[in-house]
Amino acid sequence: MGVSRTSIDNQGQEKIITVDAHTHLGYDYVFEHDFNLQGLLMGMESNGIYASIVQPGTTFDLETVVKQHNKIAELSKKMPGRIFGMANPNPHLPRCKYCQEIERCVKDLGFVGVKLHPFAHAVNPNSSAGKNVFEAASDLGIPVMVHTGSGVPWSLPSMLIPIAREFPKLKIILAHSGGNLFAEEALIVAEICSNIYLETSWVPSSVIYRFCKVLGPNRVMFGSDHPENVATEITKFRSIGLSRNELEWCLGKTAIEVFNISLSIFRLGENL
Ligand SMILES: [Zn+2]
Repeated sequence: MGVSRTSIDNQGQEKIITVDAHTHLGYDYVFEHDFNLQGLLMGMESNGIYASIVQPGTTFDLETVVKQHNKIAELSKKMPGRIFGMANPNPHLPRCKYCQEIERCVKDLGFVGVKLHPFAHAVNPNSSAGKNVFEAASDLGIPVMVHTGSGVPWSLPSMLIPIAREFPKLKIILAHSGGNLFAEEALIVAEICSNIYLETSWVPSSVIYRFCKVLGPNRVMFGSDHPENVATEITKFRSIGLSRNELEWCLGKTAIEVFNISLSIFRLGENL
């Protein structure tokens, strides 16, 4: 983009542009959790999040996910350059319906990614239903975020190695970096596959430190998953002795580059 990704706050300090790569808006029918608008906006406002990538809750039928996608699109219109959509239809929908909805989300609603949740949607990433997700994303030129950690074996980070090799240009983000239990496996997978990135919600700060030092900060991105978890996740990055450059990548630049998003702050020259 060629524009500095920092801005000056009231005290003359340069703020780091923070992008939350993992948020939700909509009811999750598997985890029975209501991700509401108030929580999303409060999480952003009270923690200085400049932009969020927003995905629906887990849904089953097409009609429900279409409604949730449309709500996310409405919000992205109200907050252009600050809210970006990520699609998540059920991969067990008929292939043509699944692909049509992903295409609508990207081409009509401007979404920037797609989510695959092997646990919530009971999808083996290497099955035909799983392959539909990666093929659709590859065709549309958007990254895929895959839940990893709870829900093994299909949520194991290593399940993504064959996919990452089959689609070398596709960017794959491991949500939760395998969780605490499989974080080391996530790191090995990311070392093997250069098109795999790690989103770090719910993993310990010591693990995040190791990711940054082994992989480099341009492969690691901040995500909160829940509004109540935003402050905790940011504090993890800010409390482990990372350099300013490393923090800039982990808190914003990695997500900006991977999702190829254009923040309004760069377009409008506004201050945070
Ligand atoms: Zn989530």
